[in-house]
Amino acid sequence: MGWKFLTRRSTLIEAQHCANLLESIGIRAQVRNRFLSGALGEIPQVEAWPQVWIPEGRDTAETLAALEAAAQDLSDRAPHWACESCGEWIEPQFAACWQCGAPRRAP
Ligand SMILES: [Zn+2]
Repeated sequence: MGWKFLTRRSTLIEAQHCANLLESIGIRAQVRNRFLSGALGEIPQVEAWPQVWIPEGRDTAETLAALEAAAQDLSDRAPHWACESCGEWIEPQFAACWQCGAPRRAP
């Protein structure tokens, strides 16, 4: 089966989160470009961002809309959390603090 590019995120955590969300609504997803970030200084940074790929037969716009809806649904249900290290409030979809990088502590 072939795969096609869906979207990219600036961090692997976010890209993996997108893939997890897609899987959670029944859409297969792959994260690519996992190890490219920072490795190739001469290409534009956005090109090195982790990418989310979906099966070739999927409609790109439809899948992006479904992804957005799933993310919205998740943030409606899950509360923000406070970083224990720096006190920053973090959106529920992130597993680590975007400010200091500390991992989320299980409640
Ligand atoms: Zn923090």
